[in-house]
Amino acid sequence: MPLSFYQAREKILAAVPLSAIENVPLLDAAGRAVAEDIVAGRPLPLFDNSAMDGYAVRAEDCEVGVTLPVIGYLPAGGQGAGRVEPGTVVKLMTGAPVPPGADAIIPFEETEELPKQIKILKPVQKGAHIRRRGEDISPGDRVIAEGTVLRPGEISLLASFCLTAVPVRRRVRVAILSTGDELQEIDEPCIEGGIVNSNSWALAAAVQEIGAVPLMLGIARDNLESLREKLRDGLQADVLITSAGVSAGDRDLVREVLEELGVEQQFWKINIKPGRPTAFGLQGSTPVFSLPGNPVSALLTFEEFVRPALLKMMGHRTLLKPLFKARLQEPFSKKPGKLQMLRVKVMLNEAGEMSVASAGDQNTGILRTLIDAQGVALLAAERDHFTAGELVDVHLLGGATALGY
Ligand code: AMP
Ligand code: MG
Repeated sequence: MPLSFYQAREKILAAVPLSAIENVPLLDAAGRAVAEDIVAGRPLPLFDNSAMDGYAVRAEDCEVGVTLPVIGYLPAGGQGAGRVEPGTVVKLMTGAPVPPGADAIIPFEETEELPKQIKILKPVQKGAHIRRRGEDISPGDRVIAEGTVLRPGEISLLASFCLTAVPVRRRVRVAILSTGDELQEIDEPCIEGGIVNSNSWALAAAVQEIGAVPLMLGIARDNLESLREKLRDGLQADVLITSAGVSAGDRDLVREVLEELGVEQQFWKINIKPGRPTAFGLQGSTPVFSLPGNPVSALLTFEEFVRPALLKMMGHRTLLKPLFKARLQEPFSKKPGKLQMLRVKVMLNEAGEMSVASAGDQNTGILRTLIDAQGVALLAAERDHFTAGELVDVHLLGGATALGY
């Protein structure tokens, strides 16, 4: 009995190893997952500073209508303007340190500027327009949890802590091997009956999209010698992905040679459509994914099974894209028994709810439907009929969607 979609994914995620930690320059860490908790080593802001262009004052001095002498000036980054003694003010700009003695900032527009003094036009609250030391972040705060993807906001924080290098997990090197006698490379002249090897490119793009490094090994032919040579090469990488040669109709040469090379098969076949003949094995701790050859099946099984595994290896905390409930616009029927990964268009209906509709012919041979889809609906294995308006589980396709990073 093949594993269920969820069992297969659990088995894979439990088996894949974490890649090593390396320190990389701050900008190289952008888009990658931080490998350790980041704890604030200093407060943010570092000192009390002004949130406005205006005057540092003592709130109690600022009765409406009084005039006060301006005894100093502080630009941002300025210092040494002295104390704000009772009955005086210091002119200062946004970001300038609040001078000792002052307990509020009054913005320019709430004063009238006179020669060497100002007139107060509005009352001032104690503490007004002061950004307090540590009000944003206190030392010791765990500000970024291990496994978080570093977006520009996180990079901003790390930069303000003066971190020039950041611990991340090494990018996983992923060998990609296409198999099949019928395959030809994209730069070869068309041969009769030849199928262009598109899978290597598609899988390499998918690997690259999540920050892993594709190593394209080309094509192995459907014979033991060719497969031995290429698969042996592929097993030097951190992960090996093959496509084709694992369906029931094949001579199973890929799995046979993998076994000969010491790859222990963890499972073969998942109760899904498309992608049923997918196999997963381990050589030591090196994961080996044998995906079906059909381009749609290869990409959908990558999306559901390989992508989360690579993210896990690279230390991501969020491995799966969030599933949301969306309304099916039209009824859909399938045979019970396999979970169907339905390629869907995703849109908002009049009520502002997510809704989905089949993106086209769901036949595995139709790549167009994958291109027209923005999401995948996961239709439960045991069900056969889905009614219009019913809620189904959907996730988006694409690597860097805000929701599913
Ligand atoms: P298989 O899994 O070997 O039965 O292949 C299923 C289908 O996918 C066949 O039509 C193959 O020609 C096609 N196919 C296999 N490998 C590739 C590839 N690398 N690029 C494009 N199509 C492929
Ligand atoms: Mg084949």
